[in-house]
Parts: sequence; structure tokens; C-alpha cells
Amino acid sequence: MQNNAKQFHEQNFDYFLILDFEATCDSPRQIYPMEIIEFPVLKINAKTFEVEDEFHRYVRPTINPILSPFCTQLTGIIQEMVDDSDRFYQVFNKFEDWLQQNKLIDEKQNPLVRFTFITCGDWDLKKILPLQCRLVGYEIPKYMTHWINVKKSFTDQVRHWPKSQAYLVEYFGITAIGRAHSGIDDCYNLAAIVREIAKLGHINLIYGWL
Ligand code: AMP
Ligand code: MG
Ligand code: MG
Repeated sequence: MQNNAKQFHEQNFDYFLILDFEATCDSPRQIYPMEIIEFPVLKINAKTFEVEDEFHRYVRPTINPILSPFCTQLTGIIQEMVDDSDRFYQVFNKFEDWLQQNKLIDEKQNPLVRFTFITCGDWDLKKILPLQCRLVGYEIPKYMTHWINVKKSFTDQVRHWPKSQAYLVEYFGITAIGRAHSGIDDCYNLAAIVREIAKLGHINLIYGWL
């Protein structure tokens, strides 16, 4: 039987961190400022494309602490889930502890291995993280200032722009788990998409910068 690692080209990274934030929202009029309410990250081995570890916390918003009915319906996140959770800076500290436990960064935030984030679109690391960090006076760590946008990876390989994650799930015939707009479920489905793009012979490149 073929070794799993042989299915994929060698990547320029040791690990990928799949990330998909959820935030406070409303419709038809959007909330401003939006605040992060779900912080899920999957650690993917860049040789096997298997998930090796998971970080997952809900986050208590402080400017608009009450979730709109629209937000709960969209994300599946209910009021109690955020009320019982830590605030953003506490969750971010736990995330950095997790990165250290996984030997991805040292205590000074310096990378120990080659890793980068993978997101669907640029919103997570270009928009909402900088906004959230500004709100709490937190400096964005260097390792989060560049990332791979899976929509650009797909376009590189397949030569057309995918309008959404749902489109990519459908394109590859992936059996999606959970519900769309649950951050952790979105991450697992994004991991499946990333694996499919890698199977096409793709070599992941950084495409987003702050
Ligand atoms: P997603 O990763 O696609 O689940 O979306 C991330 C965040 O974008 C959500 O948690 C919402 O804050 C916001 N969002 C996504 N879709 C909508 C929508 N149709 N209307 C308002 N906000 C949305
Ligand atoms: Mg998303
Ligand atoms: Mg999502």
C-alpha cells in the first residue's frame, strides 16, 4: 500500500495551521466592530496532511456581549457558550501556550519549525484579527502576519476562482462534517479541501500579508 506521505509533493513547510474565526454579526445591518467569538485551529502535518492536534475555544465578546439571534442561527453559537468563555486576550494567551506545547514557537514567539496559517479568504487574518487586536491593544505576532489563502491555492492549481468554501466542498465531492459557519466544523472541512488540492500536486505558497 502506498505510504500516505507519498501522495503529496514536498511542501516548503513542516506544519499548516488551519484557522477559521467566527465573530459577532447581524443582518441585514452588520455589527461594528465585530468581535471574535470562536477561535479554532487545526495543526496539520505538511507531509501527511493529517490533523495532529486541535485548539478550540469560544470567546466572550465585550463591546457587544449579547449575540444577535441572527448570529446564533448562522454560527450555532448560543449565548451561554460565550458567557462561559474567556475574553480574547486570555484565549490568545492559551493559544500561544498551545503553540509552545506543540513546539511550533518558543516563549519569545519565535518559530521553531516552518509553519504558516491556512484560511479560506483573507478576512480572518487581514481583517478580523487586526481589528480584534486593535480593540484590546494587542500586537499581532509576526508569525500571524502572512498566510495561505486556500482560494488562491485553488486558483493556482485549477485556474478559476472559487466563490466560497461551500463551492470547494462541492467541487471536490467532500462529505462535509457538522454545520457550515461553525468555526471548528469549517476548519475540518477546510482541512479536507487543502488535502484535495495537495493531491492535485499543489505546493502551498504564502499569498496573504498584512
Ligand atoms: P464564516 O467563516 O464563513 O463562517 O464566517 C465568518 C464570520 O463572518 C461569521 O462568524 C460572521 O460574523 C460573518 N458572516 C458570515 N456570513 C455572514 C452573513 N451572511 N451575514 C452576516 N455576517 C456573516
Ligand atoms: Mg471563515
Ligand atoms: Mg466559519
